[in-house]
Amino acid sequence: MKPVATLITLEEITKLASRSNLRLGKAIAEDGKFEIEKSNPYVNMVKISQKSSQARTVRVESTSKGLRWKCTCNSRKDLFCQHCVALGLHIISNENN
Ligand SMILES: [Zn+2]
Repeated sequence: MKPVATLITLEEITKLASRSNLRLGKAIAEDGKFEIEKSNPYVNMVKISQKSSQARTVRVESTSKGLRWKCTCNSRKDLFCQHCVALGLHIISNENN
């Protein structure tokens, strides 16, 4: 399996997320608080808190079938929500540091 960081790219995030989730996710990446619950090359799970909204736990994982994601803000397994975007951007910025 490929590490999550090689699957998560800005291009991929832009493709997976809706325009509004992309915009909201960027805002969260800038001023949200990220508490890491699990972090290894294949699984990233963080609790994201923001001043004005409920904390959410989001997980992205590299599987044999590619990238998988899950967030407590919804139960749709195909929805790449704003928190997924935020975590993705967070992973990308950590990679570049
Ligand atoms: Zn979410």
